[in-house]
Amino acid sequence: MNQRFSGIGMTSQRTRARMLERLRAQGISDEVVLTAMNDVPRHIFVDEALSSRAYEDISLPIGFGQTISQPYIVARMVELARGGRGIVKALEIGTGCGYQAAVLSRVAKEVYSVERIAPLIAKARKNLREMRIHNVKVKYADGTLGLAEFAPYDAIVMAAAATHIPPELLAQLAIGGRLVLPMGPDTQKLTVVERTSHGFQQTEVGEVKFVPLLGGVM
Ligand code: SAH
Repeated sequence: MNQRFSGIGMTSQRTRARMLERLRAQGISDEVVLTAMNDVPRHIFVDEALSSRAYEDISLPIGFGQTISQPYIVARMVELARGGRGIVKALEIGTGCGYQAAVLSRVAKEVYSVERIAPLIAKARKNLREMRIHNVKVKYADGTLGLAEFAPYDAIVMAAAATHIPPELLAQLAIGGRLVLPMGPDTQKLTVVERTSHGFQQTEVGEVKFVPLLGGVM
């Protein structure tokens, strides 16, 4: 077994178990999500120098001015995206280091993840390969446009804050599907949009802080 996977010190299974306890205390109750959070070693996705802090409930830098979301937010977004249902196809906007995509890979059959910063794509692919995750496809593209190629999706999770809901994402949502995204420039509201057979239903579920959704690729 790879050295980075072996359970030593702060990266041990026990440290992750404590993270799980904290997630439960914070209100995450979907056992499928909790199992996924327990299964994915977050320390693999952050720089070695930060790995001792990987299971704290904080966001951490992943380079290029971007961050890996705090565990609670990842768990909450995936829980909201699931809404207690199984997911066949999921789309993530903002792959970053691939951590949330790895968590999604445990709750969805197929995961597509879009990122606009090329070096982060390479990093995410390497991390996912190292974890032997094969049901995540990472694409280099502007996620504002979604990913029409594999639509419709049962769940779309956006890891960057938008000022409006991109219409392309609504169009790519399956009936019964859920879009989870942080909305607003300053005070961001975590927002869930559910597509029903007669339209879209939007709910706000709390305040969050994400990096902004930017247009184009780089
Ligand atoms: N889910 C990630 C968190 C990444 S932070 C993880 O688990 O690590 C948000 C990411 O969204 C950044 O990597 C940023 O480059 C990306 N992003 C911002 N705007 C985007 C866009 N229009 N299309 C694709 N990715 C975007």
